[in-house]
Amino acid sequence: MKTLLTIALALLCSIATQAAPNLLVEQGDRVRAIGKTLPGVPSDWHFMIVNEQTWQDIVRTKRSWSNLGNSAASNLTAHLTFVREGYALRATDSDLRQILAHEMGHHLCGCQDENKANFYRDKILRGEIQ
Ligand SMILES: [Zn+2]
Repeated sequence: MKTLLTIALALLCSIATQAAPNLLVEQGDRVRAIGKTLPGVPSDWHFMIVNEQTWQDIVRTKRSWSNLGNSAASNLTAHLTFVREGYALRATDSDLRQILAHEMGHHLCGCQDENKANFYRDKILRGEIQ
């Protein structure tokens, strides 16, 4: 019986490990779909989801990027927003919409000021930005 449980557990771990890359792709698709619906997003802007290791690398090496908080960060020059996988997995679509709108707020103000980014985030979410 113990052997059967061990095999079942190993099989479950194997399935979970194999599912992880698909989950990353799935979450990336969701982030991009939500990001592209926001008004004011340049057509050449990219949204990417990153795993925890990549997120830690970004935090360690890209301190000049906007909003190195716990959920997302943007390179305003490269037109690129990274969303932390761990955040995306917990976030509702509404949460993601808020955080991506905040990142676009950084783009619209051309700055790293959190209050100004939130000012533009609110305008985006109210539909006041075309
Ligand atoms: Zn910010």
